[in-house]
Amino acid sequence: MTEIKLTVQAPTLVNRDFVKPTLCGPGPCDVWPSVNEALTKPVISPICDEHFYVLDDIRAGLKYVFQTNCDTVLALSGSGHGGMETVINNLVGPGETLLVAKGGFWCERALEMAKRYGINTITTTVPMNETFSLQQLENELRKHRPTALFIVHGDSSTGTVQNLKGVGELCQRYGTLLLVDTVVSLVGVPFFMDDWKIDAVYTSTQKAFSGPAGISPVAFSDRALNKINNRTHQPPFYFDVKLLSQQWNCYGSTRVYHHTLSSPLLWALRQCLQEVIKETLPRSWARHAATTKHFLKRVEQLSLKTFVPKPEDRLMTVTTVVLPKGYDYLQFSKYMREKYNILIFPGIGQTVGKTLRIGLMGVNSTIQVADAVADAVAGTLIALKKSSL
Ligand code: PMP
Repeated sequence: MTEIKLTVQAPTLVNRDFVKPTLCGPGPCDVWPSVNEALTKPVISPICDEHFYVLDDIRAGLKYVFQTNCDTVLALSGSGHGGMETVINNLVGPGETLLVAKGGFWCERALEMAKRYGINTITTTVPMNETFSLQQLENELRKHRPTALFIVHGDSSTGTVQNLKGVGELCQRYGTLLLVDTVVSLVGVPFFMDDWKIDAVYTSTQKAFSGPAGISPVAFSDRALNKINNRTHQPPFYFDVKLLSQQWNCYGSTRVYHHTLSSPLLWALRQCLQEVIKETLPRSWARHAATTKHFLKRVEQLSLKTFVPKPEDRLMTVTTVVLPKGYDYLQFSKYMREKYNILIFPGIGQTVGKTLRIGLMGVNSTIQVADAVADAVAGTLIALKKSSL
């Protein structure tokens, strides 16, 4: 063979084996063993019967977890951010107004995205460890009559859960579409898309679903679909729900190629849904509540405070904990990893230097894991006391 001169030589890829930590941050969390197995199933073409049946199964499972009878239900190629882009850019066009309910970090992301699409943005704010009242939201809706309201259900940056009951009715009264982020809440806490009159919702698979990231479920109400069918703006091709719903056969008459979906991720999502179906939603919600309440009790016994003062505002998937004065949040999280191989995170955005973020979700939502994390927190408090106080 004649020698070919390469401008870039082959790199040496060293062995990167490691001992997997227990994933108890705000996500990703550990994966169900059955989902790990599903990830090894054969990779197949997106345009064959085996694949079509998987898409149908996933849509049926997603209707259950979103609690919706709407047809426009599918999963996107992409992580939670993809879902956020999709609900925003399919429903709000350039020059239209998006009202963003601003509490934690994720609404900042929504604002940033909306601005890139030329959308007018307005905000209404609460302190980061509190949630919105219906009155506050109604005042803003009445004043601005925006095209859509964006609100986060469970916020992994603050550990809050927003009560959504009644918000949909308000939005309908003022001609506004309701867009909701359930990335870190779905399956872990109660959510009812149809009953709560939600128009667009997205989630992700690496949180309470206990799967890998990269495929994000979304659902759109009939009101939202009406907007999609009558809008004058064009969303990005890759995220166009009009096209994606044809690929996913949402209305029962189309099997159209749009892009190549990832087979392993489809198998994985189907298996995540199978796990929820086996357990049932009410049992999954009850398990998450019981585990997190147990963890909160353990934390209080260590004389630590929770970041969110009102019990009804506390998210049952991610808990935010305030350390005594003198401790460093980053150092604390690093020590938990080094000494106990448990991964937790300090704050993000506005919550940096104010809280630890501890996720007990999906397969990790058990009393055993909660106790292991609480024991490690107790040990870390003692170990770091001298150096930090
Ligand atoms: N929304 C919330 C509430 C989240 O917790 C996250 C991820 N931590 C996202 C959106 C973004 O999701 P992803 O990282 O999967 O893109």
